[in-house]
This record gives sequence, C-alpha cells and structure tokens, in this order.
Amino acid sequence: MKEWALDLHLHTLLSPCADNSMTPAVVLGRAQELGLEILAITDHNTAENAAVFVDKGKEMGIKVFPGMELQTREDVHLVCLFEQLEQVEQWQEIVYKKLPSLENKKEIFGEQWVVDHDGQKIREVQRLLLVGTEFSVEEAVEIVHKLGGLCLAAHIDRQAFSLWGHLGCLPQGLPLDGVELTPHLPRHPEQLAQVRKEGFAYVVSSDAHYPDGLYPPQCFASLEEVSLAELRLALKNQEGRSIRTLR
Ligand SMILES: [Zn+2]
Ligand SMILES: [Zn+2]
Repeated sequence: MKEWALDLHLHTLLSPCADNSMTPAVVLGRAQELGLEILAITDHNTAENAAVFVDKGKEMGIKVFPGMELQTREDVHLVCLFEQLEQVEQWQEIVYKKLPSLENKKEIFGEQWVVDHDGQKIREVQRLLLVGTEFSVEEAVEIVHKLGGLCLAAHIDRQAFSLWGHLGCLPQGLPLDGVELTPHLPRHPEQLAQVRKEGFAYVVSSDAHYPDGLYPPQCFASLEEVSLAELRLALKNQEGRSIRTLR
C-alpha cells in the first residue's frame, strides 16, 4: 500500500469561470511543483479538455482521472470521476442532451476554450456550460454509476451549489461514493459527524480555477495501485484503503 497526494477537483480554461492560463502544461506543472500525484479534471458540465490533460499527465508522470463537475437541476454540483476517457465521453454526450441550449455570453460568464495537448486554443464552445442540467441528483448518480464512474457531492461546506447547502444534510439512501470539502476552515462538527456516520471519508480538493488556486497536498489516499476501483474503496474506508486529510 502506498499513500498518494491527490486533488480531485480542477478546472481548465474550458470552464467559463476559470482563468485562460489553465492549460495542461500550466495546471500539471503547478501540480508537479506542489507534489500532487493524482488529479481529476472536472470542468462544468463538459469533459472536452479531459483527454489532453490525461495525455499530458502520462507524459509528466501524473495520474489524471477524466471527470466533470455536473450541475443538477437543483443547482447542486457533483464531482463525477471516470477511469476511461470513453466513459467520460459517453457521459458528456448524455449531459449535452440535458443541458439547456443557451448561448454563452462570454463578456459576462467568461470564455470556454477547448485546447490541444500543447495548450493551443483550438475551439471556443459556444453553448453556455455553467448552468443547471435537467438531471436530478438521484438521476445523475444513477447514470454515472451505470457508466462505471464515481459521484462525490462537491464542496459540501459551501452554501452555494452544494448538496448540503440545498438540503442542510446528506440525504438518506442516496448512493454517493463520497463527499468533498474545500480547504477552508473551520469545519462544521455536525457536518463531519454526519459524513462519518454515513461511512464516508471526505476528500479535500482545491476546486482551482487559476494556477495559484491549487493547494499544496491536503488530501492523501492509501491505495494498492492508482485506479478508480481503489479510490472507491478508500472513499468508503474499505479493505484497508483510506483517505487522510491535513484539514
Ligand atoms: Zn462547484
Ligand atoms: Zn468546481
């Protein structure tokens, strides 16, 4: 068993709210400087930049899980993680069908760039990505699981766009794979108690939208090898796999 430093929630310049400097070389270069070993790329309602980040990660010796930060119809954010690019691409196709077709107003929301491996801008996504899809939280979790992915409730210690902010608790019977907290302190004891009661380890992720938004390692996973299956066990504290956080 080895312990790996991870950050499972990062945006690229495809997210309208992210800085245009968030290219593969910049994000992965910053992650490497900080000592992060496992990352996930989670743009809002899209995964069109996932492949180039996975590719660049292989080149630099950093594991990158392709993912997405889905916005449900309740305006709850879910971090969806996959092992294979084909899985995230299938998920993206499903999500795009359930994304209201509104045009991005880039003066208001920001630019949405698909880039190549070298970070060159190749195409601007015209439809607005930062908007609620038609999926309920339950539907989203079910489909992500069918595709073989993991679903984490994003930044539950934030009021906006979080499951906890929406409901004031973690709903009973929702088969989430884990929950995510921001690096910001203080923690809420009641929230941590419920997370633990539900049998979850929580991950701490940066949700970085610009290079300085990445944090030095805050969260570590003890795994036999780096895979989504191992991460699934760690998030549930099963079979000796575990998550450790510094805050
Ligand atoms: Zn979010
Ligand atoms: Zn985010």
